Amino acid sequence: MSVHSVTPPRPLSGGTNRLPVPYAAAWSGERVRIRGALTVRPGGAGLGYRDETPEDRDGQGVLWARMDRAPGSGRPDFRALHSIRQRHTMLNKLCQVCGGQASRTSQGWLFLLQRPAGPPESADWPEGLLSTKPPVCRPCAALAARHCPHLADPLLVRSRKPRTWGVFGGFFTPGGNGKPVPRPSDDYLPYGHPAAPWFLASQLVIELTRCTRADASGTASDAPGWHDRSTRVH
Ligand SMILES: [Zn+2]
Repeated sequence: MSVHSVTPPRPLSGGTNRLPVPYAAAWSGERVRIRGALTVRPGGAGLGYRDETPEDRDGQGVLWARMDRAPGSGRPDFRALHSIRQRHTMLNKLCQVCGGQASRTSQGWLFLLQRPAGPPESADWPEGLLSTKPPVCRPCAALAARHCPHLADPLLVRSRKPRTWGVFGGFFTPGGNGKPVPRPSDDYLPYGHPAAPWFLASQLVIELTRCTRADASGTASDAPGWHDRSTRVH
Protein backbone atom coordinates (compact mmCIF):
# COMPACT_ATOMS: atom_id res chain seq x y z
CA MET A 1 0.00 0.00 0.00
CA SER A 2 1.39 3.39 -0.89
CA VAL A 3 0.29 6.99 -0.90
CA HIS A 4 1.44 9.12 -3.80
CA SER A 5 2.10 12.82 -4.18
CA VAL A 6 2.33 13.61 -0.50
CA THR A 7 3.76 17.04 0.19
CA PRO A 8 7.18 16.70 1.83
CA PRO A 9 7.32 17.74 5.48
CA ARG A 10 8.02 21.43 5.97
CA PRO A 11 7.54 23.81 8.88
CA LEU A 12 4.26 25.69 8.75
CA SER A 13 2.92 28.55 10.78
CA GLY A 14 -0.64 28.79 12.07
CA GLY A 15 -0.83 32.43 11.10
CA THR A 16 -1.19 33.75 14.63
CA ASN A 17 1.70 33.89 17.10
CA ARG A 18 3.64 31.81 14.58
CA LEU A 19 2.54 28.56 16.19
CA PRO A 20 4.02 25.43 14.67
CA VAL A 21 1.28 23.34 13.11
CA PRO A 22 1.45 19.53 13.20
CA TYR A 23 2.38 18.05 9.84
CA ALA A 24 -0.69 15.78 9.78
CA ALA A 25 -3.18 18.49 10.83
CA ALA A 26 -5.90 19.49 8.39
CA TRP A 27 -6.24 23.11 7.18
CA SER A 28 -9.53 24.92 6.51
CA GLY A 29 -8.49 25.40 2.88
CA GLU A 30 -8.26 21.66 2.37
CA ARG A 31 -11.81 20.65 1.43
CA VAL A 32 -13.25 17.16 1.15
CA ARG A 33 -14.15 16.62 -2.52
CA ILE A 34 -16.80 13.91 -2.69
CA ARG A 35 -20.02 15.82 -3.39
CA GLY A 36 -21.22 14.96 -6.89
CA ALA A 37 -18.25 12.68 -7.45
CA LEU A 38 -19.48 9.56 -5.66
CA THR A 39 -21.64 7.05 -7.49
CA VAL A 40 -22.86 3.48 -7.28
CA ARG A 41 -20.71 1.15 -9.38
CA PRO A 42 -22.29 -0.76 -12.28
CA GLY A 43 -24.44 -3.63 -11.08
CA GLY A 44 -24.70 -2.12 -7.61
CA ALA A 45 -21.29 -3.49 -6.78
CA GLY A 46 -20.53 -0.78 -4.27
CA LEU A 47 -19.31 2.76 -3.97
CA GLY A 48 -17.03 4.46 -6.47
CA TYR A 49 -16.06 7.75 -8.11
CA ARG A 50 -17.38 8.71 -11.53
CA ASP A 51 -13.80 9.45 -12.65
CA GLU A 52 -12.07 7.02 -10.33
CA THR A 53 -8.31 6.47 -10.54
CA PRO A 54 -6.17 3.80 -8.83
CA GLU A 55 -5.05 6.43 -6.32
CA ASP A 56 -8.61 6.63 -4.94
CA ARG A 57 -8.26 3.18 -3.32
CA ASP A 58 -5.72 1.78 -0.90
CA GLY A 59 -3.87 -1.51 -1.20
CA GLN A 60 -6.86 -3.34 0.30
CA GLY A 61 -9.21 -1.92 -2.34
CA VAL A 62 -11.01 0.40 0.07
CA LEU A 63 -12.22 3.71 -1.37
CA TRP A 64 -10.87 6.89 0.29
CA ALA A 65 -12.45 10.32 0.61
CA ARG A 66 -10.83 12.83 -1.73
CA MET A 67 -9.36 15.85 0.00
CA ASP A 68 -7.44 18.87 -1.26
CA ARG A 69 -3.74 18.84 -0.53
CA ALA A 70 -2.84 22.39 0.41
CA PRO A 71 -1.16 22.53 3.83
CA GLY A 72 -0.81 26.15 4.87
CA SER A 73 -4.07 27.16 3.18
CA GLY A 74 -6.49 28.92 5.51
CA ARG A 75 -6.46 28.07 9.21
CA PRO A 76 -5.12 24.87 10.80
CA ASP A 77 -7.59 22.59 12.56
CA PHE A 78 -5.56 21.14 15.40
CA ARG A 79 -8.22 18.53 16.21
CA ALA A 80 -8.53 17.11 12.68
CA LEU A 81 -6.01 15.09 10.72
CA HIS A 82 -5.72 15.34 6.94
CA SER A 83 -6.71 11.95 5.51
CA ILE A 84 -3.76 11.55 3.15
CA ARG A 85 -1.11 12.89 5.53
CA GLN A 86 -2.59 10.77 8.36
CA ARG A 87 -2.31 7.63 6.23
CA HIS A 88 1.16 8.62 5.01
CA THR A 89 2.50 9.12 8.55
CA MET A 90 0.88 5.90 9.79
CA LEU A 91 2.25 3.72 6.99
CA ASN A 92 5.73 5.21 7.11
CA LYS A 93 5.94 5.54 10.92
CA LEU A 94 6.49 9.28 10.73
CA CYS A 95 5.92 11.76 13.54
CA GLN A 96 2.47 13.31 13.13
CA VAL A 97 3.80 16.66 14.42
CA CYS A 98 7.08 17.31 12.58
CA GLY A 99 6.85 14.72 9.77
CA GLY A 100 10.26 13.26 10.67
CA GLN A 101 10.92 9.70 11.78
CA ALA A 102 8.88 8.65 14.81
CA SER A 103 10.74 7.43 17.88
CA ARG A 104 11.44 3.69 18.04
CA THR A 105 13.32 1.79 20.74
CA SER A 106 13.47 -1.87 21.78
CA GLN A 107 10.12 -1.18 23.48
CA GLY A 108 8.54 -0.18 20.18
CA TRP A 109 7.12 2.90 18.47
CA LEU A 110 6.14 5.94 20.55
CA PHE A 111 2.51 7.11 20.73
CA LEU A 112 0.94 9.94 22.69
CA LEU A 113 -2.53 8.98 23.88
CA GLN A 114 -5.32 10.60 25.86
CA ARG A 115 -6.00 8.57 28.99
CA PRO A 116 -9.72 7.70 28.95
CA ALA A 117 -12.01 9.45 31.41
CA GLY A 118 -14.86 7.73 33.19
CA PRO A 119 -14.91 4.07 34.13
CA PRO A 120 -11.68 2.50 35.39
CA GLU A 121 -9.47 1.44 32.55
CA SER A 122 -8.52 -2.21 32.23
CA ALA A 123 -5.23 -3.24 33.77
CA ASP A 124 -3.64 -3.76 30.37
CA TRP A 125 -4.98 -0.58 28.70
CA PRO A 126 -4.13 0.41 25.96
CA GLU A 127 -3.28 -3.12 24.78
CA GLY A 128 -5.42 -3.80 21.70
CA LEU A 129 -6.54 -0.16 21.42
CA LEU A 130 -7.70 0.94 17.95
CA SER A 131 -6.21 4.32 17.11
CA THR A 132 -6.16 6.86 14.30
CA LYS A 133 -3.32 8.83 15.90
CA PRO A 134 0.06 8.42 14.14
CA PRO A 135 3.22 7.99 16.21
CA VAL A 136 5.45 10.82 17.41
CA CYS A 137 9.13 11.55 17.87
CA ARG A 138 10.49 12.23 21.34
CA PRO A 139 10.84 16.02 21.11
CA CYS A 140 7.34 16.44 19.68
CA ALA A 141 5.86 14.08 22.29
CA ALA A 142 7.29 16.17 25.10
CA LEU A 143 6.15 19.39 23.45
CA ALA A 144 2.62 18.16 22.80
CA ALA A 145 2.21 16.58 26.24
CA ARG A 146 3.04 19.93 27.84
CA HIS A 147 1.18 22.31 25.58
CA CYS A 148 -1.73 20.56 23.89
CA PRO A 149 -4.91 21.69 25.70
CA HIS A 150 -7.13 18.85 24.45
CA LEU A 151 -4.75 16.26 25.86
CA ALA A 152 -6.01 16.71 29.41
CA ASP A 153 -4.32 13.59 30.71
CA PRO A 154 -1.69 12.53 28.17
CA LEU A 155 -0.02 9.16 28.36
CA LEU A 156 3.04 8.03 26.43
CA VAL A 157 2.91 4.46 25.22
CA ARG A 158 5.23 2.32 23.16
CA SER A 159 3.87 -0.41 20.91
CA ARG A 160 6.15 -3.09 19.51
CA LYS A 161 3.52 -4.12 16.97
CA PRO A 162 1.29 -1.28 15.79
CA ARG A 163 -0.75 -3.45 13.42
CA THR A 164 -2.62 -2.00 10.44
CA TRP A 165 -6.20 -2.91 11.39
CA GLY A 166 -8.54 -1.14 8.99
CA VAL A 167 -10.09 2.24 8.34
CA PHE A 168 -12.30 4.89 9.92
CA GLY A 169 -14.99 6.62 7.88
CA GLY A 170 -18.59 5.99 6.94
CA PHE A 171 -20.93 3.55 5.23
CA PHE A 172 -23.16 4.42 2.28
CA THR A 173 -26.27 2.71 0.97
CA PRO A 174 -27.52 2.74 -2.65
CA GLY A 175 -30.13 5.48 -3.05
CA GLY A 176 -32.36 6.55 -5.93
CA ASN A 177 -30.93 7.71 -9.27
CA GLY A 178 -27.70 5.85 -8.63
CA LYS A 179 -26.72 8.22 -5.86
CA PRO A 180 -25.16 6.70 -2.76
CA VAL A 181 -26.60 7.89 0.55
CA PRO A 182 -24.36 8.25 3.61
CA ARG A 183 -25.33 6.64 6.88
CA PRO A 184 -25.52 9.20 9.67
CA SER A 185 -22.77 7.87 11.93
CA ASP A 186 -19.06 7.21 11.52
CA ASP A 187 -17.69 3.70 11.84
CA TYR A 188 -14.58 1.61 12.10
CA LEU A 189 -14.14 -1.04 9.42
CA PRO A 190 -11.60 -3.88 9.68
CA TYR A 191 -9.76 -4.75 6.47
CA GLY A 192 -11.32 -7.80 4.83
CA HIS A 193 -14.86 -7.02 5.99
CA PRO A 194 -17.54 -8.00 3.45
CA ALA A 195 -19.21 -4.56 3.71
CA ALA A 196 -16.03 -2.78 2.55
CA PRO A 197 -17.40 -1.99 -0.96
CA TRP A 198 -19.89 0.44 0.66
CA PHE A 199 -17.38 2.19 2.91
CA LEU A 200 -15.65 5.53 2.35
CA ALA A 201 -12.47 5.80 4.41
CA SER A 202 -11.01 8.97 5.87
CA GLN A 203 -8.41 7.64 8.34
CA LEU A 204 -6.20 4.59 8.68
CA VAL A 205 -6.72 2.64 11.92
CA ILE A 206 -3.98 0.75 13.72
CA GLU A 207 -4.23 -1.66 16.63
CA LEU A 208 -1.67 -1.01 19.34
CA THR A 209 -0.29 -4.35 20.52
CA ARG A 210 2.59 -5.42 22.75
CA CYS A 211 2.30 -2.11 24.56
CA THR A 212 4.29 -0.68 27.43
CA ARG A 213 3.77 2.67 29.09
CA ALA A 214 6.67 5.03 28.49
CA ASP A 215 8.24 7.33 31.02
CA ALA A 216 7.34 10.92 30.14
CA SER A 217 10.46 12.27 31.83
CA GLY A 218 12.61 10.23 29.50
CA THR A 219 11.35 12.01 26.43
CA ALA A 220 13.26 15.17 27.20
CA SER A 221 16.72 13.68 27.54
CA ASP A 222 17.67 13.90 23.88
CA ALA A 223 15.23 16.54 22.81
CA PRO A 224 17.02 19.85 22.29
CA GLY A 225 14.69 22.80 22.12
CA TRP A 226 11.49 21.15 23.23
CA HIS A 227 11.47 23.09 26.50
CA ASP A 228 10.99 26.42 24.77
CA ARG A 229 7.90 27.72 26.58
CA SER A 230 7.14 30.27 23.91
CA THR A 231 6.38 27.51 21.43
CA ARG A 232 3.03 25.75 21.46
CA VAL A 233 2.06 22.81 19.31
CA HIS A 234 -1.71 23.05 19.84
ZN1 LIG B 1 8.29 15.09 15.69
